[in-house]
Amino acid sequence: MIKEDCIFCRIANGEIPSAKVYEDDDVTAFLDLAPANRGHVLIVPKRHFSNALDFPCDLAPSVCLAVRKVAGALVSALNARGFNVFQNNGPAAGQTVFHIHWHVIPRFENDGLAMWPQGSYPSQEDMNELAEKIASAVK
Ligand code: 5GP
Ligand code: ZN
Repeated sequence: MIKEDCIFCRIANGEIPSAKVYEDDDVTAFLDLAPANRGHVLIVPKRHFSNALDFPCDLAPSVCLAVRKVAGALVSALNARGFNVFQNNGPAAGQTVFHIHWHVIPRFENDGLAMWPQGSYPSQEDMNELAEKIASAVK
């Protein structure tokens, strides 16, 4: 399905240009307009899904393959020393384009990109209770 007012649907069907780096039947991959690092790529399914909760698992192998191909190219073409693969779901998580996509960001020694700060749990009991709450909601 294509959503007419969706920027990534329009990029995926060629209506809007992109700096494409990879494409197959299921996904397209192009440079992010506002890169976290030079070579930041977005992997975008050609069909419209909002986020990881409506994305069908049968398309996951195509995404996995695209991530590996693109990340390998960032390592070989840009001499990246590593890469981050992540995906935002919902505005609270920083999603701004509501067509699911994976960010693949090349990383270099001391490139200054920081991950978010990490916290801690007050006790092991609190942690166990939380794990149980989540586990009982898994469908
Ligand atoms: P999100 O915040 O939803 O995880 O990521 C959306 C990403 O899409 C952002 O990093 C943003 O820079 C990028 N982006 C938004 N509009 C366009 C566009 O029209 N073309 C390209 N190439 N990237 C875009
Ligand atoms: Zn879309």
